[in-house]
Formats: sequence, structure tokens, C-alpha cells
Amino acid sequence: MSLRLYNTLTRRKEDFTPREPGRVTMYVCGPTVYNRAHIGNARPAVVFDVLRRLLRHTYPERQVVYARNITDIDDKIIAKAEAEGVPIGEVTARYADHYRADMAALGVEAPDIEPHATAFVEGADGMVAMIGELIARGVAYAAQGHVLFDVAAFPEYGRLSGRRLDEMIAGARVEVAPYKRGAADFVLWKPSADDQPGWESPWGRGRPGWHIECSAMIRAVLGETIDIHGGGLDLIFPHHENELAQSACANHGAPLAQVWMHNGFLSMGTEKMSKSLGNVALVGDLLAAGWSGEVLRLALLSAHYRQPLEWTETLLEQTKATLDRWQGFVRRSEDDEAAVPERVIAALADDLNTPAVVAAIARLSRLGDIGGMRAALAMLGLLEPTRAAPDAGIDDLVGARTAARARKDFAESDRIRDDLAAQGIVLEDGPQGTSWRRA
Ligand code: AMP
Ligand code: ZN
Repeated sequence: MSLRLYNTLTRRKEDFTPREPGRVTMYVCGPTVYNRAHIGNARPAVVFDVLRRLLRHTYPERQVVYARNITDIDDKIIAKAEAEGVPIGEVTARYADHYRADMAALGVEAPDIEPHATAFVEGADGMVAMIGELIARGVAYAAQGHVLFDVAAFPEYGRLSGRRLDEMIAGARVEVAPYKRGAADFVLWKPSADDQPGWESPWGRGRPGWHIECSAMIRAVLGETIDIHGGGLDLIFPHHENELAQSACANHGAPLAQVWMHNGFLSMGTEKMSKSLGNVALVGDLLAAGWSGEVLRLALLSAHYRQPLEWTETLLEQTKATLDRWQGFVRRSEDDEAAVPERVIAALADDLNTPAVVAAIARLSRLGDIGGMRAALAMLGLLEPTRAAPDAGIDDLVGARTAARARKDFAESDRIRDDLAAQGIVLEDGPQGTSWRRA
């Protein structure tokens, strides 16, 4: 089955062909770790987690290598550490841990590689080295302790975002600074004050700009050209436009990525969910309010990833009702997981059409095809072995109780029921056998 993906760079759906034999490489820009993730931040993590599962399914003979970075050097992090009076490393470790835990709760598997920006400043393949290469090629210049990328030296600049240079300058939040040659030139390196974190460099003690981090980490951990580069829509400009330019110039014209993919925004009320607007629902708060990670995940997948998604209480309630019903069927049945139904794979292979997968699962449930449902839910990451593990223990106990009842050992069957009740598990005996639910 061929995989078709929408490429932001060409603005159309294309047949996907991995570049290298033996592997598929994907990089998604990860969190800047200074606060808790909101459910909008979780959208790219969940979407690209589904894509990763699909890639594994589509290319069983290849190694799928997925890297998602941690940005652990940034002015917002420095400000947070200062405000709290703690070392920067304490802030970044705390929020990286939160991020990993929140994403795990949503069924997002850990990336294969999780490069931390601070580990790639120095070294042969680090940011300082890459900035040096850009200066040597004549596309970057040092000025007053800063190094800037000279946008005019890269004629293709603006191709990814489809913006013209004059529009970018007029519309964007480009910083005006006396040391810039061109208004759209962006920072590769900037000086650090004595009390700020910094690294020695040919341009003085300083720290990297955000964009060069990803360019350097991608080259260091995956190579010059990767198959898929992803992130949210807001990263197209300037972040990905700048990554693309830096990498092409540093790597002798080799393109940074074949396919650029961007998820749409999740909104709350009428606006994009964002910390600056204050309309955020934190993943941790949603979980604490009792929504399961699976419900949040399915709600995120209910819209096509490129479409906007409005986050409402009704969406969560409806998703929960649907998922409870499906999981109930799957739990009650003894059917083994079947092959993933063709319809499900076809929908995913068509630019990750998750709403069509949801419709296909509803159809399987009407047909009573529990094996197919199980496989489809697993494909979406909604039947995780990790979180199914305690459940599997429960199933074992339910089985032992059924066996005890069959041999009329009611003392034992009551003991098991009471044990489970103590864990908050309620058993329901019915004509189809015993099912269980959480009280
Ligand atoms: P940030 O922490 O703002 O850099 O965002 C981390 C990731 O979440 C990036 O890929 C963003 O594009 C994405 N993102 C942020 N806000 C939203 C939102 N409201 N809806 C969807 N994706 C978002
Ligand atoms: Zn990036």
C-alpha cells in the first residue's frame, strides 16, 4: 500500500518513498521545557505518534527512526529559573519529565532519539560548528557578538511558507536591530551576560538561537536529509523556513527534509489555544479531572490533523461515550486481534485520515468484528500494552473467579471479587460472561 502525505513545501499530497534503503527518518520539533504542556501542544505529539505507527506497519522491513528534541536553552527558561531562584537545569529537568509523563499518558511512545539542545552546542556536529560553516560559505555574518543568517544570500528563502520577503518583513515579528544587514535576517548566535548560561565561541561567550538548534540536531542524529519533518502550523514560519535555509546552506544544498508536515490548530472558544491568550487546558489538568489518556487521544484524532479542532466539553463527553462502548466490546470478547482491516490502513495511508478510521471502527463495531476493532484501536494507539498490563492482570483475576465459580468454590470466587472491588473494579455477570468496569 502506498502512503500519500500532504507536503507543505509542494502544497499537495504526494506518494511517499523513503529515501534510504533500510530506514525511514522523522523529526518533530519538541517542547521548550519551561511550563506544562496544554492539549494543543499534545496534538503534534499524538498525530506524529500515529504516523510513526503507520510507518512501522507500512515498512516492516525498515527501521523507523523518530527523533523529537527537547529545547532546554531558551530565554523563557532562563526567565523561569530566575523567577524561581533555581538552577536552569532544575527547571528543564522538571518540565521535560512532566512532558514525557503527559505524553505517555496519551499513549505517545517515547521517541527513538530525544536530543537535548544543550548537548549539541559544542562538538564536531554541533551548533557552533554549523554556524562556522555558514559564515565560511558567506551566508551568515558576525556583528556585535551576534551571528546572523543573511536571508538575501539564500534566494529560495520563503518557499516553504510561500511568503515574499517584503511580506515577511511587514507582517512578522522580526526584531529590528542595528547590527542586522537585512530586516529579515535572523539570529544564529547571541551574546550571554555573565549571569546567563553561555558557551565559548569564536564570536564570544553566548548561546544559540532557536532555529539553528534543530538544524544541528537533525544533522547530528539523523543525517543531512530526513524523510519527514513535522510540527504545528505555527512552526512553518519562521522556524521551519529558517531551519530549511540553514541546513541547505550548511549541507551543500542537500534538502533538510523530503516531506514537511504541519498539524492545524486546536482552538478553545474562538481562538487558537495558546498560553499567551490564557485559553489553555493543560494535559495534566484534564487527566486530573478524570478524562482518560485514551479519551483525550481519540478526541485529538477525531479531526483530520490538518483541520482545526475545537476543544469542547461536548467533544470529550461524546468521545468518552464512544470509546467506553468500543472498549467494552473489545474487553468482553475473547476474539484475538485480527489483521488491521484494509479500510483502516487505506484511510491512514491517505494522509492520515483519522476521522475515516474512526468511522471504520464504528462500522466494525456494528458488524461485530471485534478482532478487526481490536487491531484498528491498537493501530491508533488506543489499546496500549503498557496500560493494558494492569488490565490484563484484572482479566486474569476475572478468569480465575469464573473458574472458581465453575467448580463451585464460592469462597474463592467471592474473595477474588472483593479483591477487585478493593482496586475499584466492579464485576458484572451477564449471559456473555463476566465483564468489568472501573467504579
Ligand atoms: P510551543 O511550545 O508553543 O513551541 O509548541 C509546541 C508544539 O505544539 C509546536 O509543534 C506547536 O506548533 C504546537 N502547538 C502549539 N499550540 C498549538 C495549538 N493550539 N494547536 C495545535 N498545535 C499547537
Ligand atoms: Zn525545530
